[in-house]
Amino acid sequence: MAQKEIYDVVIIGGGPAGLAAGIYVKRAAMDAVLVEKGVPGGQVCITKGVENYPGIADISGFDLSDKFYQHAKSYDLETIPDEVTAVEPGSELHSVRLAGGEVLKARSVIIAAGGTAKKLNVPGEIENFGKGVSYCATCDGFFFRGKVVCVIGGGDTALEDALYLAKIAKHVYLIHRRDEFRGSKILQQRVFSEPSVEIIFNTVPTSILSDPFGVRAVALQNTVTGDTKELPVEGVFIFVGFSPNSVLAPEGMKISESGYILTDEKLETSIPGIFCAGDLRQNFAKQIVIAASEGCIAALASARYVEEKKARGHLKTA
Ligand code: FAD
Ligand code: NAP
Repeated sequence: MAQKEIYDVVIIGGGPAGLAAGIYVKRAAMDAVLVEKGVPGGQVCITKGVENYPGIADISGFDLSDKFYQHAKSYDLETIPDEVTAVEPGSELHSVRLAGGEVLKARSVIIAAGGTAKKLNVPGEIENFGKGVSYCATCDGFFFRGKVVCVIGGGDTALEDALYLAKIAKHVYLIHRRDEFRGSKILQQRVFSEPSVEIIFNTVPTSILSDPFGVRAVALQNTVTGDTKELPVEGVFIFVGFSPNSVLAPEGMKISESGYILTDEKLETSIPGIFCAGDLRQNFAKQIVIAASEGCIAALASARYVEEKKARGHLKTA
């Protein structure tokens, strides 16, 4: 239940971008609320370890998320555990609709809703989700102790999670559709020197095969020769990219061809008073430090927007 009739800032999403925005808007003395549909921390919660957040050499994703959350809560940031279903722009106040039925009125909105793992869209994927198919090694790796698994993908997530699974599983096949990884050089070096990881390049999965006990194999096709084969595995970890949660972008808001929200340098979208930060924004790279810094920029810019509008008497005070 919302504590205010009108908020200066409504923040959508409690990942690094949203929580950093929460810290900065509260420090700017804004009436703010953050709406999060799941566990605060966003994708960081499903990250095993973080080694590239400046000032913290090595920390678990869970611990870093908790630090962000506790920091935001230390400024008495109000949080609502609910899902935002729509953002409706208005000339004076924007409306943020919640699945629970409530409608929050906001002078400004920061959309920091990140994104979610992409699906492979092959037969057997959805049917076997939770029965051998996973999108999170940190969450499910434990269930594959001493078993043979495969990882699909060639980005940072696939490389990082192949390394993670190598410590738990008996053997890890890392299957990538090209002959070169997209992931960072340092992770590539680690993968190449990990004896439990066997790399299969130029190959795509065409289906995931199961029996009543769960996944038993993955059907593969070589992208160069066209050859097919069945590879016996008990787990299939799919890391083939990311879909931005741009469903929240209101009609008329400018988004890129691939669905990322476009902003100016203040991170204001094409709709005045609505800002966007983090992985959902069209930006150069997707990282925790980038999401957090964008949360900061969006917060400072939204606070400035609200103050200027109030000063000009364009907005009602609460
Ligand atoms: P998110 O973290 O996606 O948070 C968005 C939040 O919004 C979520 O909590 C979600 O539940 C919420 N939300 C979405 N829709 C709604 C809605 N409609 N209503 C309410 N709430 C909503 N980066 C690094 O810098 N270092 C790493 O080591 C690293 N490892 C990674 C490992 C994995 C497996 C993954 C997937 C990513 C990793 N990243 C890493 C990238 C990093 O996690 C992201 O760049 C960062 O989390 C983006 O933050 P965000 O706040 O923009 O979005
Ligand atoms: P990503 O970088 O988009 O990589 C996706 C991978 O999946 C690519 O290698 C792609 O192949 C492959 N792929 C896509 N569709 C496929 C399909 N249908 N079949 C087979 N393979 C397919 O995604 P990500 O690895 O999840 O990373 C997302 C973002 O988070 C990135 O910006 C990344 O840097 C960041 N991240 C950072 C860290 C870290 O810093 N430690 C860790 C994890 C994630 P192609 O290469 O051929 O396109």
